[in-house]
Amino acid sequence: MTIKVAIIGSGPSGFYTAESLLKSGQDVEVDIIDRLPTPFGLIRGGVAPDHQKTKKVAKAYEKTALNENVQYFGNVDVGKNITIDELRKTHDAVVLAVGAPTDRKLGIPGDDKIGVFGSADFVGWYNGHPDFTNLNPNLDVSAVAIVGVGNVAIDAARVLVKTPAEMAETDIAEHASIAVQKSPLTDVYMFGRRGPIEAKFTNVELREMGKLENCLPVIDPTQLPESVTGNWSDRDQRLKERNLATMREFLEVDPTNKDKKVHFEFFANPVEVLGNEKVEGLKVEKTLVEGGRAIGTGEFFTIDCGLVVAAIGYYSIPIEGVPFDTNNGIVIHEEGRVDDGVYAVGWIKRGPTGVIGTNKPDGEIAAKQILEDIRSSTKAGRDELNALLAERNVRIVNYQDWQKIEKAEVAAATGPAPRKKFVNIQDMLTVLD
Ligand SMILES: Cc1cc2nc3c(=O)[nH]c(=O)nc-3n(C[C@H](O)[C@H](O)[C@H](O)COP(=O)(O)OP(=O)(O)OC[C@H]3O[C@@H](n4cnc5c(N)ncnc54)[C@H](O)[C@@H]3O)c2cc1C
Repeated sequence: MTIKVAIIGSGPSGFYTAESLLKSGQDVEVDIIDRLPTPFGLIRGGVAPDHQKTKKVAKAYEKTALNENVQYFGNVDVGKNITIDELRKTHDAVVLAVGAPTDRKLGIPGDDKIGVFGSADFVGWYNGHPDFTNLNPNLDVSAVAIVGVGNVAIDAARVLVKTPAEMAETDIAEHASIAVQKSPLTDVYMFGRRGPIEAKFTNVELREMGKLENCLPVIDPTQLPESVTGNWSDRDQRLKERNLATMREFLEVDPTNKDKKVHFEFFANPVEVLGNEKVEGLKVEKTLVEGGRAIGTGEFFTIDCGLVVAAIGYYSIPIEGVPFDTNNGIVIHEEGRVDDGVYAVGWIKRGPTGVIGTNKPDGEIAAKQILEDIRSSTKAGRDELNALLAERNVRIVNYQDWQKIEKAEVAAATGPAPRKKFVNIQDMLTVLD
């Protein structure tokens, strides 16, 4: 008896689920469905273009995709081309692995002005995600404000200040590369409501900011405490001590010949985006941290900037027919079980936290639950999915098709760049005609 599983989403959590199902040694047929022709979710569209080593994890996913019991259904949007209810009829188990593709909103006056972007959009734009190709952020500005002090904020700052030489070996989208190179940008401000100890950077990402060719990390030494105090786990304590040491090292970076600056602004809570139609600045309230919470001091300052990027977290989109917890932006589930035969993994299950590897246990748990729950298969699986999509004239991009698209991207690369990304779906499909 073959158990038919449809996994919606080809990011890390989807692939780890498929991998675990295959590893179980059970008789499974796994269909991985993605709305984009390109697989791998945020590995392609989120992880920074200058972090190519991190993106190499996709090679392990490729092994899974090429397994004879797995089929990739790219360019198939669940909700548009086929519904969850239909998949529940065609497959024994449906796994939601759709991630958290939108931004938490800033929620301050002026956050609807032209020039305010969420990091999902901004990162998607520089990573060539087809949804954001036409975002067109105006980088003809001298200063950018990034709200948030986590790794996504640091990624965005770094991509904005690296030199063309530093970006040569990346797969930044061509439109973004041109805009960044032309930009007269000199200052990036990163705002964190709380202090340097509470900042969520991992140390590798933070350290990179001290090694940039043309950019100086700027930090107010009076904001750096003598030591890390507070109730942290041993692991967090070590990370925070490393981060504090790194920030101290920033004070020693030689400013000579550095045209750009990234300002780490801690204890600073943006309260209003200033300007008429377009962003002209940011009003910020100084804060104190009490009991781990940032409290406004009533003291304000402003900075001039022409662009604001909110990197304060991601949010999932409710899925029709699936119970959704709007407070936390995740599906309602019990240990990953959503309903009979429906499971959740990754960011749609846990919320937008953790690194790529954090999604692996989710996949293992879902695979185990599926194999425990489903004792007999009554569904037609892939054949019926193919038939339904053919009826609707959906152009399925299978894994071999994706390999052709990828080959064309690699062939189009210039210099040491690993690929030149297609940034719209039609261009990808044209390669296959
Ligand atoms: C900007 C950014 C940078 C990051 N950098 C790193 C890093 O350097 N290192 C690290 O370890 N972690 C990094 N992470 C975290 C890591 O990317 C996530 O942990 C991981 O991608 C979450 O996996 P996921 O499968 O839940 O979601 P995703 O990776 O988002 O995958 C979801 C997939 O579902 C598809 N999908 C969505 N809706 C539908 C639909 N209706 N129909 C069909 N398909 C659909 C999407 O197209 C996508 O392919 C980063 C995250 C972000 C946001």
